[in-house]
Amino acid sequence: MPEQKVLVIEDEENLLEALRYSLEREGFSVLTATDGEGGLQLAREGVPDLVLLDVMLPRLDGLEVCRILRRETNTPILMLTAKGEEIDRVVGLELGADDYVTKPFSMRELLARVRAMLRRSAMGSPAEPAAGNTVVRAGDVEIDLTGHTAKVAGNALDLKPREFELLTLLVSNKGRAFTRDQILERLWGYDYIGDSRTVDVHVRWLREKIETEPGQPRKIITIRGVGYRFEA
Ligand code: CA
Repeated sequence: MPEQKVLVIEDEENLLEALRYSLEREGFSVLTATDGEGGLQLAREGVPDLVLLDVMLPRLDGLEVCRILRRETNTPILMLTAKGEEIDRVVGLELGADDYVTKPFSMRELLARVRAMLRRSAMGSPAEPAAGNTVVRAGDVEIDLTGHTAKVAGNALDLKPREFELLTLLVSNKGRAFTRDQILERLWGYDYIGDSRTVDVHVRWLREKIETEPGQPRKIITIRGVGYRFEA
């Protein structure tokens, strides 16, 4: 396999160097930038396989960099967040980031996430349709797996890729409960050392798009102590 390239955009020099060292030792080729504008430029010129993106950056903050990059590319983006930053925004269904880690993180955990994201991106979407079965329905939700579109009561939904995958997983297995860990494993990769809040945040965003009353969900049901189930 050719060497994979990781772009690290981080303004804390010590952390940047630690990341570079660890990633290179894992066999990655590493590009670095210490501000948002430089990072964006390198992302365009260097065509990385994955971007590690700090939130608080000089010249153009990480959230803005993420928003711009996501319009231009599907490259996986892992946000590096500080405690207290708004996880919802960062997890970034709004912004399109694929994942986040909260500082301080262990290098081992970070590398596991990077590997899982790259493997997942190499495999493509876990919701690839089986031949001949390209539309799944449950209640008033209809998903076209080939066209990668979904509707509720006939109205097209504007879903981010991870929301689409989550909806597909739940609807295709209507009535079956999934634990947060199972959802993490299916959508984020087998050895994802995840934070189950990632799943909760995605479920919340999805509910806002498909439920009549997101606060009183009737489609994606929370099973206390277990996880989630789709009912229709
Ligand atoms: Ca920073």
